[in-house]
Amino acid sequence: MKTRFAGFEPVRRDRLVQEARHDAYQAKHKLHEPTVCPNCGAVFHEGRWQWLDRPAQAHEEMCPACHRIHDQFPAGFVTASGPYFKEHRKELLHLVKNEEERAKAEHPLKRIMNIEDQDDGIQITTTDIHLARGIGEALHHAYQGELEYHYNERENLLRVVWER
Ligand SMILES: [Zn+2]
Repeated sequence: MKTRFAGFEPVRRDRLVQEARHDAYQAKHKLHEPTVCPNCGAVFHEGRWQWLDRPAQAHEEMCPACHRIHDQFPAGFVTASGPYFKEHRKELLHLVKNEEERAKAEHPLKRIMNIEDQDDGIQITTTDIHLARGIGEALHHAYQGELEYHYNERENLLRVVWER
């Protein structure tokens, strides 16, 4: 298993920081409330992005998730690989998408950006490190296997490696 990524340190799963302190995609200024993302329609209200009906009077600014998608700059990377993955690819991808749906329904900033084929499996990129972790946990919970986290604290990026 590949365990080293430039700029990333292995981290115990229960030690992963909860707060994104240095996230380059958090607004530099305090957002007006309400603000609507012109791209996805998420509404910034009471200090967080939510799925709400569009308010009559709202500022417009792209949400951090759409911004990352626009820039093609993921926060989370999940690789899933191995013989078991190959045999059950469709089923595992279904689980991954369910996990995204569940997370995104509550948190508009948790989205999958891309799912691409790699040598031995797939790489999933996400707009949020906690979704990457959630996908890793969901795979591990359902199918066991090996699960590792590698965290880049400076840029607040997470790589999740699942293999079975
Ligand atoms: Zn948006």
